[in-house]
Amino acid sequence: MDIFEKCDSFVIARIAKASGLYPYFLTIEDSEGTEAVIDGHRVLMLGSNNYLGLTTDPRVRAAAIKATETYGTSCTGSRLQNGTLALHLELEERLAKFVGKEAALVFSTGFQVNLGVISCLITRNDVVVTDKEDHASIIDGAMLAMGDLRRFGHNDMKHLDRVLEGLDADSGALVVVDGLYSTGGDLAPLPEMIEVCRRHQARLMVDDAHGLGVMAHGRGTAEHFGVTKDVDLIMGTFSKSFASLGGFIAGDENIVHYIQHNARSFIFSAAMPASNVAAALASLEIIENEPERVDRLWQITERMRSGLKEMGFNTGSSVSPIIPVIIGEMEPALNAWKKLFDAGVYTNAFVPPGVPEGRCLLRTSYMATHTDDQIDRALNIFGEVGRELGLID
Ligand code: PMP
Repeated sequence: MDIFEKCDSFVIARIAKASGLYPYFLTIEDSEGTEAVIDGHRVLMLGSNNYLGLTTDPRVRAAAIKATETYGTSCTGSRLQNGTLALHLELEERLAKFVGKEAALVFSTGFQVNLGVISCLITRNDVVVTDKEDHASIIDGAMLAMGDLRRFGHNDMKHLDRVLEGLDADSGALVVVDGLYSTGGDLAPLPEMIEVCRRHQARLMVDDAHGLGVMAHGRGTAEHFGVTKDVDLIMGTFSKSFASLGGFIAGDENIVHYIQHNARSFIFSAAMPASNVAAALASLEIIENEPERVDRLWQITERMRSGLKEMGFNTGSSVSPIIPVIIGEMEPALNAWKKLFDAGVYTNAFVPPGVPEGRCLLRTSYMATHTDDQIDRALNIFGEVGRELGLID
């Protein structure tokens, strides 16, 4: 058996491409945030995670350029050996304060945070417990760990209770959930979850990649529920509201110290380059000082969600600037994606295995920098395409 045989029989993407319905790896030729030229076509961007519109902010750009001029383009090595800059330490200190924890540690991507943190904390006798809609990086971190992996139904606290109840008394448990779910746009019920975790002496880690910058004036989902001190570990990424690349973990100093010396994706990978650190720091400064940006994001979000719902679209349980338009089967979903794209609106198409069979959807997400005019245009185009395809009346 040749291991490459699977590559020859992998034809689904080629079939989609041939039919003109392939929605992935499109080339972005030009982007100023809310609009972009994609594959030669000018579109309204409803498919990014640039929630606060900071990727093109002149202050963030200038900070990244200045850091490159000062420190060069790469650290060329791990934080452990030769890659720790004063900028990394400044970002860690400010992030810890921002999310309300004793200490923080920055990694080169958010994906690496979940790989490294979960795999170093979950040793042979331990169990990591995940929500069925958790991000892939959490699942991969859990699979990398020496301990067991158990899953519970999405946001189903009774199921979580049963899973924790069924664990051996001498097993340690870490429950890991997204704070704000990246596809459905709904929140983890943290207060109830904390109560269940407490009862079973399980620790709780919240991946707030999408909640930071968005919930509670940017301070995240734990702060939104007023439960920061009861969440043991808060994970974040800089690739969304923070307009950069990288990620972090925050918690008690002794836990972060352990992670710093044991997480392999931290120790054996090159440090975040200075430009990324400086961009994240500049974004943090803006998030702290300009709460009106987050207010604007929510204003746009409410307008778009109510507009889509009034037209009859199914936006699921979204309560955030991530608003899915749930369509169902793959073909109508890809058709709708293409019609919207041709009409000038870019969305993200989600099909299995990204979502369960029959739950294909177009993920839309919003930015503080979208104008009212752009939102009106998006709603009009959604209405036209929805009616043309019989998705709404
Ligand atoms: N967790 C969640 C919930 C995410 O959505 C993402 C990014 N898609 C990550 C982790 C990984 O973050 P990064 O892009 O920084 O690797």
